[in-house]
Amino acid sequence: MARQRKKQKSLIKDLAAQRIERLFELAHDEFGQNPKRSDRYVLLARRIGMRYRIRFPTNLKRRMCKHCRSYLVPGSSSRVRLRGRYITVTCLRCNKQMRYPYKSSKSKVEEDNPA
Ligand SMILES: [Zn+2]
Repeated sequence: MARQRKKQKSLIKDLAAQRIERLFELAHDEFGQNPKRSDRYVLLARRIGMRYRIRFPTNLKRRMCKHCRSYLVPGSSSRVRLRGRYITVTCLRCNKQMRYPYKSSKSKVEEDNPA
């Protein structure tokens, strides 16, 4: 029955991942009214992630500050700039920056294979 147990474990992880996504949705919904509550949802999501050792999907990772854990909304709580191959996200709460490689498969293909 080891197989079944393993399956159950991944089911719990699935549920945890769903809860994390839901918390980010709530954070998004609350942001206009109550940005502090958004930060709280992010905190809860992070706790679930740590507890079940779930890696945050990239799209969610970019919606929180890795320094102060604030919920980031581009143009509101964060500033997003493209710098060459990187996206620089500045958190307006703590003014620190995060850099992510900017991946656009389309432009990469164009660069690699100039017509
Ligand atoms: Zn921050």
